Amino acid sequence: MCFTAAWLALAGWACGSGSTAPEVVAPAVEQAFPGESGPVQTAFVATARGTREVTFQRIRGERVVEGDILLAPGQLRPEGVAQSSHSAQGATTHGSYRWPQGRIPYVFRSDLPADTQAEVNAAINHWQHFTSIRLVPRTTEANYVVFQPGSGCSSYVGMVGGAQAVTLEAACNLGSAVHEIGHAVGLWHEQSRTDRDAHVNIHWQNIQPGMEYAFQTYRERGFNGYWEGSDLGGYDVRSIMHYTSWAFSVNGQPTITTKSGGLIEGHRIGLTPGDTDAVEELYEGSTPAVVRLDATRLARVVRKPNTHLYYSEWNGSAWTAEVDLGGTIRSSPAIASWAPDRVDIFAIGVDRAVLHKFKQGTVWSEWGSLGGYATSAPAAVSWGPNRIDLVVRGGDNAIWHRAWDGVVWHGWGSIGGLATSAPTVTSWGPDRLDIFVRGGDNAIQHKAWAGRWYDWGSLGGSATSAPAATAWGVNRLDILIRGPDGAIWHKAWNGVWHDWGSLGGSTWGAPAVTARGVNQLDMFVRGSDGFLYQQAWTGSQWTGWYLLGVPMY
Ligand SMILES: [Zn+2]
Repeated sequence: MCFTAAWLALAGWACGSGSTAPEVVAPAVEQAFPGESGPVQTAFVATARGTREVTFQRIRGERVVEGDILLAPGQLRPEGVAQSSHSAQGATTHGSYRWPQGRIPYVFRSDLPADTQAEVNAAINHWQHFTSIRLVPRTTEANYVVFQPGSGCSSYVGMVGGAQAVTLEAACNLGSAVHEIGHAVGLWHEQSRTDRDAHVNIHWQNIQPGMEYAFQTYRERGFNGYWEGSDLGGYDVRSIMHYTSWAFSVNGQPTITTKSGGLIEGHRIGLTPGDTDAVEELYEGSTPAVVRLDATRLARVVRKPNTHLYYSEWNGSAWTAEVDLGGTIRSSPAIASWAPDRVDIFAIGVDRAVLHKFKQGTVWSEWGSLGGYATSAPAAVSWGPNRIDLVVRGGDNAIWHRAWDGVVWHGWGSIGGLATSAPTVTSWGPDRLDIFVRGGDNAIQHKAWAGRWYDWGSLGGSATSAPAATAWGVNRLDILIRGPDGAIWHKAWNGVWHDWGSLGGSTWGAPAVTARGVNQLDMFVRGSDGFLYQQAWTGSQWTGWYLLGVPMY
């Protein structure tokens, strides 16, 4: 089989003569110690929700989970330590196993063979091309990854403290190297997600005796998914973190198939859009949301790693002090406004329902739930007084819509599409909506409402983030994305579509944009240094990026 998707061609991994495509046929599953087994044991492990009992195999002194995941001694806890709720402890732990600012220092152990070093370099380039993660040669950092030779392919999950090994024997191919770096970044196995039974079937009778534990969901082992870094984005059977159908098979028959009985080949060519989406959900945490309040005032809201939202207003000359809006929020927020003294804020809660909080005058409401099942951050817009249109990506990766008409919230309805990012929505006037998402080929897809829904259509582009969009007048649209080079790219409509053009910058995650008035734009990004940056279009020129001094990490 030959994959020719655009995201592969971008990486220079296109099929054909002279290509450097890695092995298409994946190993049945990555293993730390192929062919070896050991006693199944349990121990209490520090997780984001307190101590949990985890099952593993003890092989050569290591604690091996699901074949290739290693538990670090520093993650173990004495039995009987009281469990704490995620609201008390989760945020801190959730933040702490992520690498600060997505920056992973690394070294090659001196005995790592040159061809394996070349493979790791290719895997690093792949990660840096498709995500905001940066692997940098270590100087003096205390926490770092050591790429080393040894038995099998294995890694710890997330930053565990000190030097942590990613072990790659010669038989580990490039796809497996990308997979093991995925564990080090903080990803778990896709097929153990708490929601996997809705997507795949496990064939227990075909599993090697003693390995059944490796097919439990993380929920069955006491995890709730999100706080530990699984269940990010939508379920993706093509994820590079997914087992193959033959993982730990005792009889050559599949141990895991799709709901329709299809085989899972164990995709190890590269990160899928679903994988990059999961990484951005794990690490972005704070893509800003902004909205115009009136001709001079803006409102912005960001999420920080303590899972709270923080709100601030531009009063014409300065940003006001941030207000802690609380919440237990797992997504970037959305913001809408239909009047100068009205702000509506939306975000996704731990149960994936959409949460809503609003400010009328100077009074904030409590958080309330609008239900739904979101696998992305929400987006919202108001095209008139007392009107809100809300969109999210659902569990089926389609976009779902819900509207407030001043009296009631209408029910959730699907408007189709196949999104690999959160949607964005804008409006240039009453009863008009323009919705944008990133599609499976990383191009931007567009759908409009103008009295009826129009079909999805592609606007091209190559996005490494969700899009942002605004409309400063009738028949005017401005769209922003983060490109593969980390810069922000812009496309406009004023009756015709103009080409994508770069606005520069070195950014993390998705941009945000709003318009204070006709022919004006205010855009916001999180820079690769973790701080919030702003750039404006004044009607005649771009101002260039300037630092707001607001830390977003
Ligand atoms: Zn693995």
